[in-house]
Amino acid sequence: MSGKRQPQNPVIGHWQCPEGSKAEVRQAAKRGRHFYTSCDCCGVNMGAGAARQTKIWREAEFLQGADVFKPSNVSDEGQGEALPAVQSEAAASEPQSEPVGERWRPGEEEEHQEEPEENPAATWIALGVGVAALAVGVLNG
Ligand SMILES: [Zn+2]
Repeated sequence: MSGKRQPQNPVIGHWQCPEGSKAEVRQAAKRGRHFYTSCDCCGVNMGAGAARQTKIWREAEFLQGADVFKPSNVSDEGQGEALPAVQSEAAASEPQSEPVGERWRPGEEEEHQEEPEENPAATWIALGVGVAALAVGVLNG
């Protein structure tokens, strides 16, 4: 590879932007090799999220002869390719909303109460011994 500095990375393919336009796909030369696109509807989009990168990777029509590298955060199932440790950048965590269908029924929560089957007195005695031992330990220390 030549060490020439290029003001812009070459177009390596085209991708149907969800917004409607045909986007030009370029690829960052730096580590991570993330795709970025430019289209009439969105301008330049350098979003490097895994979902977007994977979408472009799968959907774009890459030019013949173009040097296309798989971005570091694209996971291609079925390929046993050993990738260098992928650092998840701000893993997109979607807020999970609880289903609203659940009804609260009075009395139901009582099932979760723990009822000690052992003699409570024995428990208290054991606790007392422990506390006494602690106290003694503190006094002797
Ligand atoms: Zn667009």
